[in-house]
Amino acid sequence: MSEPAISLRGLTKTYAGGKQALKGIDLDIPRGSIFGLLGPNGAGKSTTINILAGLVNKTTGSARIWGFDIDEHPRNAKASIGIVPQELVFDAFFTPFETLELQAGLFGVPRERRRSMELLKAVRLDDKAHVYSRTLSGGMKRRLLVAKALVHTPPVLVLDEPTAGVDIELRQLLWDYVRELHAAGTTIVLTTHYLEEAESLCDRIAIINHGQVVANDDTQKLLGTTGDKLLDVIIDRDLDVPPPIPACKSVELKDGRRLLISFDKRTTNAGAVLAGLAAAGIGVVDVSTREADLEDVFLELTSGKAAA
Ligand code: ADP
Ligand code: MG
Repeated sequence: MSEPAISLRGLTKTYAGGKQALKGIDLDIPRGSIFGLLGPNGAGKSTTINILAGLVNKTTGSARIWGFDIDEHPRNAKASIGIVPQELVFDAFFTPFETLELQAGLFGVPRERRRSMELLKAVRLDDKAHVYSRTLSGGMKRRLLVAKALVHTPPVLVLDEPTAGVDIELRQLLWDYVRELHAAGTTIVLTTHYLEEAESLCDRIAIINHGQVVANDDTQKLLGTTGDKLLDVIIDRDLDVPPPIPACKSVELKDGRRLLISFDKRTTNAGAVLAGLAAAGIGVVDVSTREADLEDVFLELTSGKAAA
């Protein structure tokens, strides 16, 4: 197997002030993947990405980008990655076209190999090429940052919460473009709060929580790990507390007449759960089942009980 696109070993970060944001991250991101880096707010996703971007200094550990150690070969490491930061920061007094030309200059891209207009077209900003960036909407700024991350044609593109504050139509446009880049060979790493997007886009997902990796697997395998199944039941009376049902993992009272019951399909089944309800004297009006989705897996791995 070829060297990973990104390889992190024992990465830690303690911010001035004492907050330990990363507690030893070990992670390999394979070349050619669309990799989802997920985790609740404050988990350490942006810290990890900002270390790769050279915006934050790590405390200990090592990071390699496309085989280049960020300490030993910082220029090569930087040239191998394009990063769209979570924060919308850039020079308000440059136009989008100037912003891209300037960035290309910083990366030493010769004039004849620059593709500022092509990139602006790709993110649908060609009609805004020559207006001041400060007049762009939030979604437009986000897309400009995507174009800016690509001026040096890096083999790895990292997007930190790229769809935060971007409306649905543009989100779709952004993902279409990301898929296109991926199809053309770019390794993609993204963080997102929209778990459904991660589930449909990413072939591999790592979940971090409190500065540690708590899961790292193929998306499909990750979805299979819990073995959980959910039963959504409408019952025939109002309850104040969820009834005890044997062999279930959790019983949640959604409102007076609706129960969300989760069980492990390897040890019990829906019939047994419904029999448990009947035994508690509760009638069933309607029932539906579904497999655990990424959100369920995510909650299981990042809820209080899983925290270190
Ligand atoms: P995420 O991107 O997963 O939401 P972050 O990496 O932004 O998480 O933050 C991880 C932790 O580090 C949080 O507790 C956050 O408050 C803290 N943190 C982030 N940036 C700084 C900073 N510049 N100074 C001090 N603490 C920070
Ligand atoms: Mg973040």
